[in-house]
Amino acid sequence: MASKSKFQAIRGTRDLLPPDTALWNRVEQTAHEVFSTYGFGEIRPPTFEPTELFARSIGVETDVVSKEMYSFLDAPDVSDLEEARDAVKQVNPGIGAAGKKDAFELYLHNFISEVEKGIATKQLNLSLKAQSDFGILKARYVELLGLPGSDDEDTNNKRRHLTFEIIIKTDLLKFGESVTLRPEATASVCRAYIEHNMQQLPQPVKLFYMGPMFRRERPQKGRYRQFYQIGAEILGGPDAPAIDAELIEMLMTFFEKCGLQGTELSINSIGHAADNCRRGYVAKLKAELEKVKDKLGTDSQRRIETNPLRVLDSKLEHEQPIIEKLPRIADHLCDECKTHYAAVKHELELRGVIYRENWRLVRGLDYYMRTTFEITAQGLGSQNAVCGGGRYDGLVELLGGPPTKGIGFAIGEDRLILSLQESGKGAAPQGRDVYIAWMGERAYATALRAAKNLRDAGFRVELPPVELKFGKALERASKLGSRFALILGDNEVADGQWTLKTLADGSQQKLSEQALLEYLHTQRAAS
Ligand code: ATP
Ligand code: MG
Repeated sequence: MASKSKFQAIRGTRDLLPPDTALWNRVEQTAHEVFSTYGFGEIRPPTFEPTELFARSIGVETDVVSKEMYSFLDAPDVSDLEEARDAVKQVNPGIGAAGKKDAFELYLHNFISEVEKGIATKQLNLSLKAQSDFGILKARYVELLGLPGSDDEDTNNKRRHLTFEIIIKTDLLKFGESVTLRPEATASVCRAYIEHNMQQLPQPVKLFYMGPMFRRERPQKGRYRQFYQIGAEILGGPDAPAIDAELIEMLMTFFEKCGLQGTELSINSIGHAADNCRRGYVAKLKAELEKVKDKLGTDSQRRIETNPLRVLDSKLEHEQPIIEKLPRIADHLCDECKTHYAAVKHELELRGVIYRENWRLVRGLDYYMRTTFEITAQGLGSQNAVCGGGRYDGLVELLGGPPTKGIGFAIGEDRLILSLQESGKGAAPQGRDVYIAWMGERAYATALRAAKNLRDAGFRVELPPVELKFGKALERASKLGSRFALILGDNEVADGQWTLKTLADGSQQKLSEQALLEYLHTQRAAS
């Protein structure tokens, strides 16, 4: 007998359920409304993309790419190729018998040309490993063809050997493209901008998205393996400081409309990748870090080599006083970046956006530049960042597009919802406006019609699928949080006067169908 297994959602993933989903919907609806007033349109990119897209845009050195991505080999849809492969495997060349040699070589030739055809038509995308395996396979094939036709033992042994190796290689050759469940969506938006020639639209192009992201992280409060982001990107056009400031203004307006409490906006400028700007600063930072290396933890010690800026991210208690004494980027910005940063701050002030400067807010990648920002909110413990963002003027070009300015942010929706719930802004259970307590065949027909009409008018209606005793029906009605019970029995149907019971105080009144609808409308307007 098959054992019963209880399925559970995979670690780090979870079901979002009512009534919480009502709050999720409200937040997403608010994003749609606020972002559209700023001229943003929604983009819905796919949830998986070529691994290479993320590796290139997020950077192979980052935690996200080096250990958090869900990647898999997606087998290509090439049945001809698999048939050709099977033919090679099945011909059983009698291991070395010269007589079977022709058929084997023919099938092998066919398989090799199918692979080459796939590559030429771009249907096949061989990984580096597969390319090298295929190269070896072809070399063995050439060797096999080069063997003399004779049947002496030496040649037969060689042929047997080669054949064996070829069959194994043919079998193991993996086709397909490495794809990854998106860990974030900025790369996809930039890919789409290039793919759809959006640089030909009026610039800048303003897009927002929302949806699930995937990262293999250690699950904890506010940190999941499938989590949700709401983000926006501005691509193309100038890098005027007003663009940065308006994007941040929009973000803070959104949080305010959601009712998020205790938000704090931190901003910084990380200059640009040039010797007289960030590169010069990083060199100084590195030199200073070398001097205090022995006092740092192993992570920070490693980062001195790989990415000195990221040492500034450290949350280790004992490193804090050391980091506080390190050189600060603001003192090393070039004139243009300094001016840009000052103008962004001024533009924020003009908009009444309150910010705090945090010189340790950095991003490790070259294409990030100038403005970076982060928003924290209350009630989240140590995972208190609800949004991160910044300018990334080099990214579109890095992905093969034209030089394009870019800036964007990503909000952690799970954390936003958590914070709203912690501060009592959670959603109330759904409830019903009207519970229809019907009794008898004739009343049932009327109940069906009443339910349809009330629902058409936008009321939340519960219609029990089977007849219930009166007391039982009222009990259900109140358990579901209904405001009214509409009582329909033979008398009500015969008189055309329906009974409406207000559950809060138990009062009852008789109303015609038309009067009932009007009454419910006035009650809804008053509440
Ligand atoms: P953190 O430092 O918290 O790991 P991050 O720098 O990895 O954040 P970003 O890549 O900038 O985060 O993503 C933007 C936002 O997405 C974060 O501020 C956070 O609110 C949210 N976020 C990131 N990873 C997760 C996760 N695993 N679970 C839930 N929310 C997340
Ligand atoms: Mg992270």
